[in-house]
Amino acid sequence: MDAYDVRGKTVLCRVDINQPVDRVSGTLKSVNRIRACVPTVRELADRGAKVVLLAHQGSDIEYKNFYTTAPHAAVLSELLEREVKFIDDVTGPAARQAIRSLKNGEVLLLDNVRFCSEEQTLFETKLCLTHEQQAKTQVVEKLAPLADLYVCDAFAAAHRDQPSLCGFEQVLPSMMGRLFEQEFCVISGIMEAPERPCVFVLGGAKVADAFLMMETVLSGGTADKVLTGGLVANILLAAKGEQIGASSLAFIKKSGYDVFIEKSVPLLERYGDKIVLPLDAAYLDATGRRVEADVGSIPADAGVLDIGQKTALLYETVIKNAKTAFVNGPMGVFEKPETELGTKAVWRALGATEAYTVVGGGDSITATEKYGLVEKMGYICTGGGALIRFLTGEELPVVKALRHAAKKFPEGE
Ligand code: ADP
Ligand code: MG
Repeated sequence: MDAYDVRGKTVLCRVDINQPVDRVSGTLKSVNRIRACVPTVRELADRGAKVVLLAHQGSDIEYKNFYTTAPHAAVLSELLEREVKFIDDVTGPAARQAIRSLKNGEVLLLDNVRFCSEEQTLFETKLCLTHEQQAKTQVVEKLAPLADLYVCDAFAAAHRDQPSLCGFEQVLPSMMGRLFEQEFCVISGIMEAPERPCVFVLGGAKVADAFLMMETVLSGGTADKVLTGGLVANILLAAKGEQIGASSLAFIKKSGYDVFIEKSVPLLERYGDKIVLPLDAAYLDATGRRVEADVGSIPADAGVLDIGQKTALLYETVIKNAKTAFVNGPMGVFEKPETELGTKAVWRALGATEAYTVVGGGDSITATEKYGLVEKMGYICTGGGALIRFLTGEELPVVKALRHAAKKFPEGE
């Protein structure tokens, strides 16, 4: 962004400020993504640009948080300590008039861009438009003529192939925002040349993503060790023929994850020296009390909901001796006090280690906040799906679109 004089220019800036929403009170339950885009927005406004923010809230698949971006404008105003105008329109005459009326240094947030059907996931996955075709959609055709520059700061949405993310690059000089640049550099740095030992801590419940990540970082040689927890560990233990209890197994089958038990077998054969499995586990007895048992002695009627204390101790040591640690997914059901011990211990170790730590994933960030470790981590990545896609080595659609723009508009004109 440095090379451009944006004074007096209209800059369309796509951000990802998608947050959990309380629909009853109309308030946001977290504002971490809004906070993360502040540096880019502030810089553009300070440099005299007319800043038009495009953002989505929720999706057509998760209707529960499909909502207006009006509350986001109020939060952003507070964080920026300057007025952020809002208009309940995206591409219509009202939105376009509001854009035309902006003065230098003013910021306007348009309404949820996914109120336009062409921005919805079903549109993306069913129609599969090329970026050229995306440039001919309403969002791009109505807004691009009013703008001089497109800035994409939405790393967390960079795995989406949608017009507000990949279409403007066809018709406007385009660049990454500060947050996008930072997330991109931090993650590529880890993938390409991590300081070693490099440890990946993979837990949680998004099994397909975790296995994809595990394969990538092991086959590419990025990870020296993968510490496992959560459902991911349960699956690996089951693949080794260990008893994980009937309810854990039933949960894996019900979620359609049994294929990963089969997939784990060759993975463990090949990378058994690098994949670290829990030594013990915790489950709840009939009265709801936490009980721990060594792997090998887990009762057949139990359900594993956390790693045990021996495992936590082992993981703490590995993390302490690491130079890079990446974490995605909690070690257990950390939302409940009986089953948070593992996550709490591992997270505290991540906060205390000298290693450069990167936290990714919504629940992992929630755990970081819950244990008061936000300031202790090296980097908290706003991207979930995008981060995982990026870690698997696939080029993100937005990065591809930005590359195209860099060639098409080499001077930024
Ligand atoms: P992130 O959002 O950090 O990427 P995930 O969404 O993959 O993490 O996983 C978080 C969820 O996994 C939490 O809600 C947690 O309760 C759940 N979880 C962790 N361990 C287990 C387990 N052993 N069995 C069932 N659910 C688990
Ligand atoms: Mg999650």
